[in-house]
Amino acid sequence: MHIKTVLNKCHKFKSFVYEQVEFVDKSETLIEVKVVARANAKAVCSDCGESASLYDRLGVRRFEFIPLWGYRVFFVYIMRRVNCPSCGVTVERVPWGSGKRELTTTYMQFLAHWGRKLSWQEVAETFRTSWPKVFCAVEYMVEWGLKERELSGITAIGIDEVSWSKGHKYLTLVYQIDSHCTRLLWIGRERTVETLSSFFHFLGESRSQSLRYICSDMWKPYLRVIAEKAGQAIHILDRFHIVAMVNKALDEVRAEEHRQMQKDGHEPLLTKSRWCLLKRKENLTERQETKLKDLLRYNLRSVRAYLLKEDFNGFWEYVSAKWAGVFLDRWCTRVMRSRIAPLKKVAGTIRRHRGLILNWFKAKKSFSSGIVEGLNNKVKVTTRKSYGFRTYKCAEIALYHVLGKLPEPKMTHSFR
Ligand SMILES: [Zn+2]
Repeated sequence: MHIKTVLNKCHKFKSFVYEQVEFVDKSETLIEVKVVARANAKAVCSDCGESASLYDRLGVRRFEFIPLWGYRVFFVYIMRRVNCPSCGVTVERVPWGSGKRELTTTYMQFLAHWGRKLSWQEVAETFRTSWPKVFCAVEYMVEWGLKERELSGITAIGIDEVSWSKGHKYLTLVYQIDSHCTRLLWIGRERTVETLSSFFHFLGESRSQSLRYICSDMWKPYLRVIAEKAGQAIHILDRFHIVAMVNKALDEVRAEEHRQMQKDGHEPLLTKSRWCLLKRKENLTERQETKLKDLLRYNLRSVRAYLLKEDFNGFWEYVSAKWAGVFLDRWCTRVMRSRIAPLKKVAGTIRRHRGLILNWFKAKKSFSSGIVEGLNNKVKVTTRKSYGFRTYKCAEIALYHVLGKLPEPKMTHSFR
């Protein structure tokens, strides 16, 4: 059987034929497949997609295809120009390639598929290509997917920020969090009023008006833009962020008290206590459990803060927003009396955002912290895995690729 036969089975085009297939270099590591236009098949204008009469021929172009048994494979074709009645003289469109790209679309889709499972560097090494080519492949697929994706029926979104790269650079991420579809919708630089405004601009007025639920953290610029652009939606302060805020305060209390005790020459009771206090009870190891039991016997600020944090868990158990509100007010009052500064600050924030926090109950708890937290973790893994991300563009492409659930061009044969 010839390679040509295999190609005709899995990668056939109506107006083109595969001719000879051969090794072209001395060391026999490159296979070239000569492609020619079928006799009497007209070329197609790359601008409008209509067939047009031949104008002239350009030089030879090579398009890289999926490697075969460790040999790199190239299609070799002499491009034509057409005289299009509507567009003038243009280069023809070939069904295996796209624009000036050196890789065939099939190969780009293939590399992009692996780029979701491995780091881009690993993909480049595995398939004997280079990092820039893998990037180009992923970029092509992402651009295609963004153009073709469906944006109707979005009723719930979550807004989050992540820091990336070194220094204090932020990205704003907007997810769709409907029960039928969870995906990354949009990425923007920074986390300013302008950032989030440009998301709503992208979404368009009518789609923004159909949003019913919006989850976010307490970042002020976000709160402002949401109120302005989608005031009709129930705005929920996400549980994940509130819990994180309480934990952070507790951690501060512990660290500070630990430092103070060491300084004063007390027995270092709080050594290795961090996770005993921060973790959920059911996740503690046996050793941590013993340590915690031991700690609870002491009248420490950290212990009091811990007990307040544990009490706060009860908040999420309520069904009615009204009773949850009563609980919240009582909890805040207790914290204010505790004289534990970091927690008092949290209580102040909670009081200021009481309405938005209670909206979580009005939304019938449909948006668990798990959704945003899960997406948030995936984002971190993606940005960490891609040490090559020196630029914003890379981060953007990679995140859309992994989290965007973007559609892909239909293939008649699966190459993986
Ligand atoms: Zn045309």
